[in-house]
Order: sequence, then structure tokens, then C-alpha cells
Amino acid sequence: MKKDKPKKILITGGAGFIGSHLCEYFLAHGHQITVLDNFITGSKENVRHLIGKKGFKLVKGDVSKPFSISGKLDIILHMASPASPLDYMRYPIQTLDAGSAGTKNVLELAKKNRAVFLLASTSEVYGDPLESPQTESYWGNVNSIGTRSVYDEAKRYAEAVTMAYHRTYGVNTKIIRIFNTYGQRMGINDGRVIPNFITQALLGKPLTVYGDGKQTRSYCHVSDLVEGISRILGSNLHEPVNLGNPNEMTVIELSKVILEMTGSKSRLDYRPLPADDPKVRCPDISKAKKELGWQPCVGLKEGLEQTIVYFRSALKKRR
Ligand code: UDP
Repeated sequence: MKKDKPKKILITGGAGFIGSHLCEYFLAHGHQITVLDNFITGSKENVRHLIGKKGFKLVKGDVSKPFSISGKLDIILHMASPASPLDYMRYPIQTLDAGSAGTKNVLELAKKNRAVFLLASTSEVYGDPLESPQTESYWGNVNSIGTRSVYDEAKRYAEAVTMAYHRTYGVNTKIIRIFNTYGQRMGINDGRVIPNFITQALLGKPLTVYGDGKQTRSYCHVSDLVEGISRILGSNLHEPVNLGNPNEMTVIELSKVILEMTGSKSRLDYRPLPADDPKVRCPDISKAKKELGWQPCVGLKEGLEQTIVYFRSALKKRR
């Protein structure tokens, strides 16, 4: 995104993990940020250090219900949605609402303001993929009535309605498919594998491995993701782009890295695999490389080091 002119940016879900990093980044680049968040999974704590700063505004509201944002907007980053499997299964209806009615409401706002609209979609649109790595042209393998469907199908609808607003009304839309992302400010009780393993390792508790732990993921540090988002905003791409780290590994391999880095002696505790848990996941990022000149540059150990420091301090504060 061009740095010269300050923009007015709305970040829905800006008090969430990724949203809060976007707030920091765009504020630091001189833009004005309004956050709209209903705090069901986001937290004021994530943006407390920004409250009172010039150009930052926090509004409590739900994207799926009527809301009003004053002033003309240049850019809208639509991040609002529960995103951890634990959270979207705990809030199934709110997740469906955020992706469907919420996305449509926010697109209407983008249309009215002639603002750039970015949809935070997800690798979950590929479901339990039958092709790996996943390219953007793969249509996916989703169980439309499974427990994960509340997230997967809401995001698939969100992509569909975003493309429809682009094709019908010419809204300048962007869609990113975010693969597993981690970093500071993920919640201790977030439920995703990196916060779980780090917390368990630091507390000397067994690491909960779901299934046989041979399923694969790859983990992108949040700072790399934020850079990718900034680049796509300045592009003329409208079709989805994968943003993630292609360094694929099994869950067991990840557990070993975290045990080694924390110096923990915790054992592995095998638990049942959640329904429809994808067996493999790895982004093909050729499109982002070619079109945006983007690729992740934070290695897993480097990113985990910072994340472990964050969790050590978050756990201390909790005591
Ligand atoms: N997982 C695990 N133990 C945990 C949490 C997750 O083994 O305590 C596994 C989960 O079954 C999945 C992978 O780690 O195969 C990544 O899960 P996560 O919830 O981080 O995100 P997902 O990729 O499922 O959206």
C-alpha cells in the first residue's frame, strides 16, 4: 500500500489476534484506524496499548447487526469472526452470522464509501483437501453439515458474496485465504495448537496431541501475514490469494520443536481427533510470490521464540 496519503481504515474484528496486529501496523504507518468488535472472541486487552493514541478509535458493535461508523472510509479490512476451531464450535450461530449477514453488511458499507474491501477468508475453504499443496484454483472438500461447517461454509459464502459485490457493483474487493497463523496476543485459552502446546509445555503439563499427530499444518508468523495484507491492498487482484507459510510439518514434529525450545519435559497425551480435522494443509503461495512479491520471512524457530516469551509473561500475569 502506498505510504504517502493517510487513509481512514475500518478493521472489523480489530480487537482479535490478527486484527490487533493490523491496527498496530497501519497506525504506525500514519493511517487512521477505527475498530469495530463485539468482543466475543476478541478482547479490549489486545488493543489497550492503542487506546488514546491519535487516529485510533474503538467501537463496540456486531457486524451482523445494524451498526454505524461515522466519516468517510477508504479501506475496510473485514476480519470479524471467531477463528479458532474451539471458538467457532462454541459460537456456531455467531460464526455463521459474522460470515454471512456480517460480510454483506460490511460490503454495503464499502459500496457506499467506495472503499477498498478486504475479506479475511481461510484455508478452511479447502476443507479436508484431496490435493496438496492447495492452490487457489482448488475448490475444496468440505462437509457442509459437519461441526466445522459453521466456519467453512460461512467463509465460502463470504467469498461468494464478496465476488458478487465486485462483479455486480464494481466494489474494489480483495480476498485472502489465511493459513495457520501464530504469534503474540493469541489467547492462552485460544485452543489452537501453538498456544496449547506452548502453554502446556511451560506449565509442565502433557501436550495434547489430537489423533495420531501425523496430520500436517504449516505456520505463518503474524508479522509476515500483515505484510502480505498490506501488499494486496495496493494490488489490483480481486480473486483469492493464499497467504501462509509453506513449511509443512506434522503435529508431532511441531510438539518436538516446542518441547525443545521451552526445555520442557512434558509428555505427549494422545486425544481423539476432532471430526473433519484436515489430514494435510499446506499453501501453494506461487500466486502471492508472483503477483505481490510476497513470501514469509520469519522462520518457525524465530517466530516461536517471540511467541514463547509472550506466553511466559501472559502466564505470569494470570497467576
Ligand atoms: N491439535 C492438536 N492438539 C491441540 C490443538 C490442535 O493436536 O491441542 C491439532 C489439530 O487437531 C489440528 C492441528 O493441530 O490437526 C492444528 O489445529 P488448530 O486448532 O491450531 O487449527 P486448524 O488447523 O485445525 O484450524
